[in-house]
Amino acid sequence: MWPGIISGYMDLLGFTERDLIVSLHEGNTPLYQASNLEKALGLKTRIYLKFEGLNPTGSFKDRGMTVAVSRAIREGTKGIICASTGNTAASAAAYAAKAGIPAFIVIPNDQIALGKLAQALAYGGEVLAVDGSFDYALELVRSLVVEDDRLALVNSVNPDRLLGQRTGAFEIVDVLGEAPDVLSIPVGNAGNISAYWDGFKQYKAAGIIEKLPALWGFQAEGAAPLVTGKAVMDPRTRATAIRIGRPASGEKALQATRESNGFVAAVSEEEIMTAWNELARLEGIFVEPASAASWAGVRKTLTSSRDIDSVVCILTGNGLKDQQYVLEQGLHQNVVTPEELEESIDSYLRRW
Ligand SMILES: *Cc1c(COP(=O)(O)O)cnc(C)c1O
Repeated sequence: MWPGIISGYMDLLGFTERDLIVSLHEGNTPLYQASNLEKALGLKTRIYLKFEGLNPTGSFKDRGMTVAVSRAIREGTKGIICASTGNTAASAAAYAAKAGIPAFIVIPNDQIALGKLAQALAYGGEVLAVDGSFDYALELVRSLVVEDDRLALVNSVNPDRLLGQRTGAFEIVDVLGEAPDVLSIPVGNAGNISAYWDGFKQYKAAGIIEKLPALWGFQAEGAAPLVTGKAVMDPRTRATAIRIGRPASGEKALQATRESNGFVAAVSEEEIMTAWNELARLEGIFVEPASAASWAGVRKTLTSSRDIDSVVCILTGNGLKDQQYVLEQGLHQNVVTPEELEESIDSYLRRW
């Protein structure tokens, strides 16, 4: 049985057998080869999809949260606090529940997917909505923890979050036996892309791999401060998990992509939607819209002639979190009711 990322990578994360660990057995998520996507686009490159939506609360945030909450408990913290576009909220609330401490969660009002809010509430999180953006909410909680040492901040500015999220890179190498040529990843607050880079570099320093991947980061056009070089005061995208105008780890991420010979680029709402659709219909993987940005970026960047052997796309979160997005695509109109059918299901199927 997989014991979770701290027990699975204890030495690499600096934990010992004696440490108290708060875990929901996160990590060890599948890495699929996307042979249908390769075929549909006529690519010679091997495309792999790492489905982080299969973590305990449905996003990669759990990798960082197990480390952040375990450390907070060790240090005698009485509660945790975070700002969230949704997935951090769900993850923080779940791990706080497991640890038996409260989670205070500050969200931008009316801007988080209902499924994520439902999760945070179900796990018993104390949800506080503010009028303002995610960036404002993060500023607010950062100032609150400075004044209140009973609380630990569990946003990705917490180095323990980034430490735990390195394990996504470890797992890719453990399966492929090497780093891919390219790692493609959605970028919001820019913590995860930085964590993957640290993870690959740690494996290289330990002599486990020789080459590092190029990092390709993708932001949504309406929330692309790392592409334009300017903070976005009113970030807009339906991909709420990456609707961030002032990424806290922006500098670190830009440095990592440069060091890796990669880049950060933007994808449009339409490109995200097309990629989201393909992942579901060609590969059977249902992701939330932000997660489709990694495949959206790869499919428009890669050509069949390019000399890239392997690409791993990180699919950051589960589609069940944002069902509204499915309805917005009008897919519910494809449901055939008994009145519309005008025949038995039996005869309908026989015509097919
Ligand atoms: C948090 C999140 C992101 C963005 O990750 P950052 O570390 O903020 O760049 C992307 N997708 C999903 C589903 C997320 O939950």
